[in-house]
Amino acid sequence: MLLQVENLAVSYGNIKALHGIRFQVDEGEIVSIIGANGAGKSTTLRAISRLVPVAPGSRMSFMGKDLLQYPAHKVVTELGISHVPEGRRLFENLTVMENLRLAAFARKDADHIKRDMERVFDLFPRLKERLSQKAGTLSGGEQQMLAVGRAMMSAQKMMLLDEPSMGLAPLLMLNLFEALKELNQAGTTILLVEQNARMALQFAQRGYVLESGNLVLAGKSQELLENP
Ligand code: ADP
Ligand code: ADP
Repeated sequence: MLLQVENLAVSYGNIKALHGIRFQVDEGEIVSIIGANGAGKSTTLRAISRLVPVAPGSRMSFMGKDLLQYPAHKVVTELGISHVPEGRRLFENLTVMENLRLAAFARKDADHIKRDMERVFDLFPRLKERLSQKAGTLSGGEQQMLAVGRAMMSAQKMMLLDEPSMGLAPLLMLNLFEALKELNQAGTTILLVEQNARMALQFAQRGYVLESGNLVLAGKSQELLENP
């Protein structure tokens, strides 16, 4: 087991966003968490990335290590977990190349950075043609590719993806998910959250359904698709 989450609870002031959820992700899997707007999907990913404080009693382990002992930056650099946040959050006034370079913030080894950048371009050839273009002038799909590329530059053991299909035209969405499958086959475990349930369940092997901060259903994607 790669990631194990137990009794995960998160509140924002008086608002309880997660009520003690439990799930796990095995090495090499693609797992999705689906649910309506406000269900707690983004909060789940933020908790794993240590970007929000969790309630006492919450437990999370990654490769057998207690995730709660790691601050956000070490979750990236020491555990190898990258996060593609909702809304992409690119540096819009910086170029594609500058965005990718900045994401390798913790790396000093130039060869390693170069190799990872080549991997990004193998996966997303469109980005290579736009290296000196400002990120803010890319199309929506290209921005999402760059957001994934940035995450690849920071860590590749596991990638957390927040609504990657949001706002993408169907063809670009397919391109993106094809590239993510290749990334997975090359060894990156993927956990994604999606409102687009059909898309998520076609892409992932297993899924969980989140409703108002509770996991209400779990199973293989095929079973969840057949379950009305
Ligand atoms: P989802 O990603 O499924 O749309 P979120 O995790 O963003 O859900 O939100 C879960 C709940 O927490 C919602 O009720 C939302 O309004 C609330 N929430 C999320 N972020 C914040 C925040 N920064 N401050 C206060 N409430 C928040
Ligand atoms: P979409 O409708 O798929 O989001 P756009 O029409 O926004 O795509 O962009 C189409 C192409 O034009 C993309 O390759 C994008 O990089 C390029 N582009 C968009 N806006 C600008 C701009 N202001 N300067 C340079 N290139 C741009």
